[in-house]
Amino acid sequence: MFDIQTLALLAPAVQRMAQGQAGLPALDTAAQPEVGQAQIAAVLRRAAERMQDNFPYAHPLYAGQMMKPPHPVARLAYALASFVNPNNHALDGGRASSAMEREAVAEIAAMFGWDAHLGHLTSGGTMANLEALWVAGLSQPGRRILASEQAHYTHARITEVLKIPFASVAHDARARMDLGALQVALDAGEVGTVVATLGTTAAGAVDPLPQILRLRERYGFRVHVDSAYGGYYRLARNLGPEASAAYEAIGAADSIVVDPHKHGLQPYGCGCVLFKDPTVGRFYRHDSPYTYFSSKELHLGEISLECSRAGAAAVALWATQQCLPLQRGGAFAQGLEACREAALELQRRIEADARFLSGPQPELDIVVWAPRGASASEVSARTQAVFEAAAREDLHLAVASFPRAMFPHWPLQWDAERVTCLRSCLMKPEHREWVDEIWTRLGRATDAVLAA
Ligand SMILES: *Cc1c(COP(=O)(O)O)cnc(C)c1O
Repeated sequence: MFDIQTLALLAPAVQRMAQGQAGLPALDTAAQPEVGQAQIAAVLRRAAERMQDNFPYAHPLYAGQMMKPPHPVARLAYALASFVNPNNHALDGGRASSAMEREAVAEIAAMFGWDAHLGHLTSGGTMANLEALWVAGLSQPGRRILASEQAHYTHARITEVLKIPFASVAHDARARMDLGALQVALDAGEVGTVVATLGTTAAGAVDPLPQILRLRERYGFRVHVDSAYGGYYRLARNLGPEASAAYEAIGAADSIVVDPHKHGLQPYGCGCVLFKDPTVGRFYRHDSPYTYFSSKELHLGEISLECSRAGAAAVALWATQQCLPLQRGGAFAQGLEACREAALELQRRIEADARFLSGPQPELDIVVWAPRGASASEVSARTQAVFEAAAREDLHLAVASFPRAMFPHWPLQWDAERVTCLRSCLMKPEHREWVDEIWTRLGRATDAVLAA
């Protein structure tokens, strides 16, 4: 279940790193803490036992929330760096890891077609979006920020924190921002920024970025792309035509967020924000009385809202991209393509099966569907029951609530405005080979519920 063979690679790498400080007087690390090996072993064992109480996120039968195991090289590089424990706030605290962060971030920027850029890693997508909207608010003072109703709820909260007026825009039956509704909001005026989500968290929908960019020419707003979950799909060659066009256009945005800890094989604590115009660095300007002493070079803390940041996260990301470059047709990109194939295959089976109501065609790797029922409330109740029955089959799905507008073709008695659906994020390349097994277990769980 867990890869432990590669753990053996860690000790020689730590030794190699230590050679960089070979000139210093020896330090007896074993004598340092008052906690002996036996105690550490006992506590680790207890922690391991406590950690058994989790869903099996790394296994393909976990097909629920947005969870993807980090690559072994990411885990090892993170552990390696943790011996130094660099702080990427300032070069004083993290020289090597700051350089690695800049390289890794430049590779992500290049994936979006950007050479010149300003960007850095963050603790996650929330902080990355906060910075992007902070800059958006400073660039367009007093003006509103718009995002789709299917955008991540963080945008409504972030704008509350930043005290920027916010409005949400209705979405169409495919969970994409509705262009007619956007136009109405733009005509109402005072719009400074439009957030386009490339890969919504609930349904994996891709907002129509090319059309949004065309409206930008007329209305002159900023465009922020939130692709915390879906950004890496820029590399996939098997998207539908509209999603492809959106990803082709992504470089025309003013800012982009992508989470290496979502699809980028990183442990949690790794988001990324990118700005197309490097001069937005002026908004970050501050004089820290504590930090920037060691050089006149740029310290990442001068272009980041967060101060202390894990240099280890940068080392892990750098190492992962060394092994798996962000290239079309490369091994990493093929992994994403496999995820999408898995989603399409599951969708095909759902559509062909009378036990289910199918949601919109997956644009990336998230599938939304429900067991059939006479009314919205019956579908919601059965969804919950199938979710629980599937878990008893060791198949872990997720549930999500969607508005009626997403399912115009469902022959239901709409006794509620929303309906709870099954939702499956097929974010592991192994999912492609596991669709059969997932389908078998889903079938058994559904039969049990429909028979009851
Ligand atoms: C996950 C996600 C976020 C929030 O990112 P965190 O890393 O969880 O803080 C924001 N937007 C989208 C589209 C996401 O999928």
